[in-house]
Formats: sequence, structure tokens, C-alpha cells
Amino acid sequence: MENVVDFINSFNPKILSRGDLSGALELIHSKEELVFHPTKNYFNITDLCLPADFFMGLKFGKTKSVWLKGILNQGNKIHRIVQSWLKQHESYFGMEDTLDGYFKGISARGRTDGKILNSIVEIKSIKELPESSEYLIENYPQYLEQLAFYSAIDPMTPKENYLVFITRDYPYKIKSFKMIIKNPEKIPAVLKRRIYLLRNLLEEKENSDLFGKCRYCNENYCNIKELCQISESDPLGCEIKDSIELTENEEFSNEIKNLREKYGENFEFYTPYNILHPRKFCLKQTINKEENFQDLLATKKGISQ
Ligand code: SF4
Repeated sequence: MENVVDFINSFNPKILSRGDLSGALELIHSKEELVFHPTKNYFNITDLCLPADFFMGLKFGKTKSVWLKGILNQGNKIHRIVQSWLKQHESYFGMEDTLDGYFKGISARGRTDGKILNSIVEIKSIKELPESSEYLIENYPQYLEQLAFYSAIDPMTPKENYLVFITRDYPYKIKSFKMIIKNPEKIPAVLKRRIYLLRNLLEEKENSDLFGKCRYCNENYCNIKELCQISESDPLGCEIKDSIELTENEEFSNEIKNLREKYGENFEFYTPYNILHPRKFCLKQTINKEENFQDLLATKKGISQ
């Protein structure tokens, strides 16, 4: 291991932690002109977890509705607050670190919400807390696949990882689930097959209903529903459910609740990048508000969904 670190340090960065290590590898990766751009050869893990949605976006221009954008904005805010609690945890690190499957022969990349020791932590804001593991498998297969796929492209292939759910509205209830990877060989195989099939679909070698309808399908808010020929099919089920064990984990939920009690919830959270670029941050906030306002106006006039 020391040799590897010495080798990487010879490119200039000084590695202090695994977060630094992944950043350094990213730097070397870019230097070799393998800079990441999502293409039909290289994918985001989040797009691979929503393959039909991704395909309909690329092929027919499916866009996020005002309704969905509103939910995502609200979710992002809560997400950052949970990350700020976790940052107080003595074993938390690697917030927004990039994992790259390149080093494992998998053409996919993803950014994790962070890690506790060697476990990946993924945060999801949600309308109502999921009642059980079965409910999650049935209704949110994309969340489970996302966490399992991150584990597959992580150099350490962590076997125990966490999904943290928090409600979008006050009082921001929290529930955590532990995911144990029972069959570590199966997950990369599912991921590679997903990439293979999605490439074929994008090259029009497969029918457009290959992955069923969009996992986030709400025809009332879809801007391309007149063009859609897949809305009658069932959405893709959870393809990794037999390779994982998913159980509610009260211990981890309580750890987060304790951090929340200690550090509070009513403060704005800024990343180091926001602090270094305050004007850019303020401008982006204004543009987001303006975009949402224009979308809302257009929806009211019946111009867009
Ligand atoms: S109608 Fe549903 S399945 Fe069809 S493109 Fe829109 S969201 Fe996707």
C-alpha cells in the first residue's frame, strides 16, 4: 500500500486519507485525458438506476417537471443538513467523493454522500418513511441498486452500507436501513449487464420498452407523454434483491438523531466551494429561483408540463 501511496504522491498531491486518495486518483485520471463525460460508453450510476428515464430523456427530451424540480430542490436542502450532522461523526469522511468503476473494469461513475468507517452512506429525502424492507424493494428499487452499485465500483467493495431516509417536511423523521451484500460477485454482473443493455438501447438494437416504463412515471407531469410508447409496461423491478439483505437499523438512526439534537437543524450549510466562490453561489440561487418562476408561469399558461 505504501508503494501505491508513494507512487501517487509523485504526481504531487500529499495523501492523508482515503478521501485524498480518491481525489488523487481522479487527478491522475484527468491527466491521462480520461476526463469523465457521460456518453453511451460511460455512465452515471444514478442514470443506470433509472435506465428508462435516462433513455427517454436522451431520445425524446423528457425533462424534469416543475413539480419534480421543486421536490428535488427541497430534498437537496435537507440532504445537505443531514450531511452537516454526519460531518460531526468522528468516523465520517469522503463527502461527495467520486467512485470510478474504471479501476474495476466497469464504465460507470458515482458520487457518494459519504462514509462511516468503510461503509457507504446514502441519504434520501422522502415524503413518508418506508415501513419495511419489502416496501423499499417494491417501491424504490433504484435506491437499493444505487447503493449496491456504489459498493461494486468502490475499490474496497464494502459489504455493509447504509441508506438513511428523512422526511421532506417537519419534523424531519429519520429511519435507516443496513444493506449487507450477500453475493459480491452478482452485483457487478448486474451492473455490467445494465450497461450493456443500455448501450444497445441507445444504439437502437433493442425495443424502447426494454426496461419497462420510467421508474419515475407521472404522466400528468410528463412533457413527452404524447410521444411515449412505454407507459403501459411495468417498471423494471429490483434486480439485486436476491443478493442483498436489507434490515432497519435503529442504532444508526439513533446516532444521527443524537447528532441532530447536539448540532441543531436550522442553519444554512455551505460547501468549501461556495465559500471560495460566493458570487457564483448567489448567482446560482437567483437563477434557480428565476427558472422555477418561469417554469411555474409556463405551466399556469399551459405551455409546459
Ligand atoms: S409517460 Fe411515463 S413512461 Fe412515458 S416518458 Fe413519460 S414518465 Fe416515462
